[in-house]
This record gives sequence, structure tokens and C-alpha cells, in this order.
Amino acid sequence: MEFFKRNNTRKVNIGGVEIGGGLPIVVQSMTNTNSRNWKITVKQIKQLEKAGCEIVRVSFPDMEAAYNIKKIKKNIKIPLVADIHFDYRIAIEAIKQGVDKLRINPGNIGSKDKIEILVKEAKKAHIPIRIGINAGSLKEIHKFTDNLSRAKILSNVAMEHVKILEKYSFEDIVVSLKASNVDTTIQAYRIFASKRNYPLHLGITEAGSIFSGSIKSAIGLGIMLYDGIGDTIRVSLTADPIEEVKVGYSILQSVGLRNSNVEIISCPMCSRSKLDLIKIVSEFENKIYKIDKLKKLSKPLKVAFMGCVVNGLGEAKDADFGIVSQGNNIGVLFKNGKIIGKIRPDKLVKKLIFMLKSNLQV
Ligand code: SF4
Repeated sequence: MEFFKRNNTRKVNIGGVEIGGGLPIVVQSMTNTNSRNWKITVKQIKQLEKAGCEIVRVSFPDMEAAYNIKKIKKNIKIPLVADIHFDYRIAIEAIKQGVDKLRINPGNIGSKDKIEILVKEAKKAHIPIRIGINAGSLKEIHKFTDNLSRAKILSNVAMEHVKILEKYSFEDIVVSLKASNVDTTIQAYRIFASKRNYPLHLGITEAGSIFSGSIKSAIGLGIMLYDGIGDTIRVSLTADPIEEVKVGYSILQSVGLRNSNVEIISCPMCSRSKLDLIKIVSEFENKIYKIDKLKKLSKPLKVAFMGCVVNGLGEAKDADFGIVSQGNNIGVLFKNGKIIGKIRPDKLVKKLIFMLKSNLQV
């Protein structure tokens, strides 16, 4: 179920994963390993694949790193985006090495003629380009302090570079207009989305820690998604990138745009609760992200964890699976609204995972 109408953007194919045109919003992340070490980078990408990451971005700061692209590609399943700054020749090498998409920040890749050379090469190889504008790398933005002026600059700079690509009839374009300020970011995307229909990659850049970054991202991305804006997302966190994937899915699930995975409903507990739900819910959450089949559900699966019968019975009955604490440190287990037994807290998570897996015939 979607709550709102999404913008009808152009479809772009990134190494076999299509985005845009109302297709499900794709969850991306970015590695934080040293890409000069391809084995460590592949290891992290494999972990990201397992967490449900659908497109991965890797920064290649120099030629030594870029020469690893072929090896990395050979060992991963999801499309690889090369993030290149400062030197267009590294981007050209990335194309030669078979990368699936380039992300460049035209503000620092060099003169227009260098961008033009790059565009021609990308076109020849059918590689999409994301024009990734970041507020931090635009000198002119710092002349202004108000969010709207900054947003206009972000959008104008993106438009300038889009026009260079269009001059060469290059249309496999994805655009991002990120700032660390939520309001600036939202306004920039709104302005750009009113002018062109290229698919948009959403993110609040340098959003912060798991806690503050997730909140910032949820608000920023949530508002844009409600506007119908957005075809792919990356939640930028100072954390293990697996957390970015988890938060990304959680945001999309909260606004009804991805139904995969499990929706957890859990009460905050009070003096009526006889179960340690903090421990139980966190253990459950950490385990479900490792079950691949849960990422491909056709409808959301609700699991409720409730500390007592006050709201617990109603929530548990409404959920696909539910646990309600019922005195003496005992959990009552529900499935599709029906009680199916009582269980000790230390066995709860194991039993629930078993039930989920049996339900999915994993
Ligand atoms: Fe307290 Fe029960 Fe509400 Fe949980 S469901 S917060 S234990 S009253």
C-alpha cells in the first residue's frame, strides 16, 4: 500500500537493477573500507548484500584503487557504483574496469572539457552517471546563510551539469542534491524535481551517528518520499554501513514504500511489564536481518512484543505473530490472533524465529 503518488521519473538501469518510473525504491549503501584492499572491500560488500543492500557505492580515491574494480565486481552480486572525485581519469579507468555506474561531483571533477570526455566514454559503455551534488563542496553556497538560497544553488549546479550531459544526448542520469541540513536538502530536491524527471537518489549527507543520523534521515527522506520524490536512498551514518541498510528499509517500510522485512511493534514497558523487552526485541531484531527470505515478502509481516495485556492483547491479535507478557515471567505466544502457547523468556526469540521460518518455509 502506498499513501501517495510517486513522481514518474525516467527509468535507468544500473548493472541490471532498474530504478525510476515508479519501481520500488532501491536501498543503497557505501563501503567504508580502503578500496586499495579489494579483499576487505569485497568482504564488506558481501555483508551488505546479506543485509539487503541492492546497490553498493565504493570510493576509488586513486588509480591503485580503481585497478581493483574488476576484481571486486567479479566477487560480488550487486551493482557497483564508483565514487570518483578530483580526477576524471580515474573515472575513465573505472569505466574500463567494468563498473556499473559512476558517481561524480562535478564541482570537483575538473573543467567542463574533462567532464565532456568522461560523458562520451560513459555513453559508449552504457554506464549511467549520478551527478552527486554535495553542499560542502560548492564554494558559492557559503556566501549564503539561508536554506532556500542554498537549495537554489544546489539545484542550479545540478542543472548546469545535467545540461552538459544532455548536450551529448546522455540521459542515463541520476541526480542527488545533498546537504547536511534537512530543510536545504528537501528544498533543493523539490526545486530540481519540478524541472527534470531524472531519477533522484535521496540522502541527507553526513547525517551523524546511528541515533541522530537515523532521525535526521527519517525526517528528511520521509518528507521527500511523501512528496513523491525519490527512486533510491542512502542513509548516511557514521556507523557500520549495515546499519544504513537497516535504517533505509525501516524508513521505506514506515511510509509503506517497501513491504519487505518485518515490522516490529513493541511497547516501551512500564511497571506492569514482566518481560525484559529491551533485550528480547533487540535480540530478535539482530537475528531477523540475517534471514534473506524476510527481505522478499509480498506483504509486511507484523510481530508484536507487548509488556502486558492492557494494549498487548489488541496489538498481538492484530499482528501475524505476537508475544504478550502475562505475569510470572511468562510470554503468551500469538499467531494470527490466536494463542498458541506459553513460553519462558529465554526461549522466546528462538521460538519466534523458528515460527517465522516455518511460516516462510525457509
Ligand atoms: Fe505498560 Fe502494558 Fe502499555 Fe507495555 S503494554 S507500556 S507494559 S501498559
